[in-house]
Order: sequence, then C-alpha cells, then structure tokens
Amino acid sequence: MKSQINLLRQLQDLILTREEHLQTGDGSRLDMLGRSISSMEEQLCPQLKALYEKLSKRNKIVIASMSNGCCCACGMHVPTAQVQQVRMAKHLVTCTGCGKILFADDECAHLNPGEKNDSEELKKGISRFSAPELMLPHMKAADMPGAIEELAKLMDANGFITNADALIAAAMDREAILSTAIGNKIAFPHVRGVEGGGLAFAMGTSESGIDWNGETVNIVFLSAIPVAVSPYYLKLMSWLTQAVTKKDNLDILVGSDNPEMLWKTLVKATRYSIK
Ligand SMILES: [Zn+2]
Repeated sequence: MKSQINLLRQLQDLILTREEHLQTGDGSRLDMLGRSISSMEEQLCPQLKALYEKLSKRNKIVIASMSNGCCCACGMHVPTAQVQQVRMAKHLVTCTGCGKILFADDECAHLNPGEKNDSEELKKGISRFSAPELMLPHMKAADMPGAIEELAKLMDANGFITNADALIAAAMDREAILSTAIGNKIAFPHVRGVEGGGLAFAMGTSESGIDWNGETVNIVFLSAIPVAVSPYYLKLMSWLTQAVTKKDNLDILVGSDNPEMLWKTLVKATRYSIK
C-alpha cells in the first residue's frame, strides 16, 4: 500500500498544481496536466481509487500527513492503534475527523512553530508568514536548483524549518511538474504538506537574474505550506505578485542591499493587501 499512497501524494500535487495553473498561470499547460492526472488515476488500485473519487467530490485535498499523532488537515487526534498502521502503510487509514487518507510524515521537512508565542498574537500582515532574517538580497545562485537550495538553507539556519534537504527535494519535484516562474520576473517555488507550524516563506533577490528553466527571474519566494492552509497559499501568491509588480517595487526590492531594507520594502508594499 505504501507505493499506492506515494502515488496518491504525487497525484495530489498534480491536482493542486493544475489548480494553481488555472488561477495564476496562462492555462497553456492544462491539457498536459489533465493527461498526467488521468494516467495517474488509472494506476490507483480499485480500493484506493474508489475512496479517492469519493473524497475528491468533497475537497481537492484528499490525503494529509499525520504529525505527532494528529491529522494535519483538521488537527484530530489519531487513535493510538491506528498511528502504527499509518506508519506501516500496509492498510488505508482515514482520519476520523475529516475523512482524509493519512500518511506518516517521517521523511518530510517540518516547520518550527517558533518560540515567540507571546508575540504571536501581535503579528500582523506579512509578518505572519516571514521575517527579516528570511530576506536574502543578492543571491549567489545563478539557476533554479541553486536558488531553492540557498533559500531552504536560510530557512533551516534560522530555525523556521527542519530538514532542508527534504524541502529542497520536494520543491524540485514540484518544479518538475510545472515551473513556478509565472512571468513578471518572479518565481514561487513551494512545498505543500510541510507541517508543524504556520506557513513560512523566504524571499531572495538577484540583480543579474536567475535562470529558471529558461526564464530569467529576479525575485524568488520559497514557501513551506501546511496542508490546512493550502488553499490560502494561492491568495498569498497573488497578493505578493501584486505587491512586487506595483509601481517601482521590483526595482527597489532588487536594489536592496541588506535584509532589513528588503523586509521594510516588502512590509510597505503589502501593508494594504495582506492584513
Ligand atoms: Zn483530519
């Protein structure tokens, strides 16, 4: 069952990628994504396929990771007897709260909930998702894999995520489905299903430009997205795109020499759109 569950996770990524492409892309790859989705659906075993079809009528997210004995989609505690079953992945286990299929997240990257719980309530706007220490002006990377690695390591070094290597690998898998350079000189590499805290992103800039599968980008946002806020990510992406492309913001961001300056510009550019 483990390979079937992995297949379903890949299928889930494809479906969410198609959703992103519908909302933020030009629609030119819809046919290609649709074909990949159909062929993957055909590979599901009858038992899993029936459950997948039932669940996908309700919600696009049909599979969720189990972290610390809880379902990451709804927070419901997984009964102890089932925790081991999810780990073994020999049988299908669904969450008693939301009905989604569960998988163990042992090999995944994790978000750190952060120690600053006292100030958590005071966080507003873009500060809910990022921080000055996650700003990286003048990136060294010249290409997509290098840029993803640089930003993932920055997130790890500053304690926002664990297991940078897993995050890098998952972000590369996502790029392999469809490039996240969506025009406007911006790329949005991301990994969904990173659990343990709130959505977090790092931002890097490059004056000379980064080669993103043939497209040149100057600004990169690398996001780690918990499954529960997955639908919200598309809104965040569109707000960030608007903020960056507004007036001279792109030039100011790309010309920023230090993380503080970059952060200040980002906060200013998003203060009305991201509450
Ligand atoms: Zn659940």
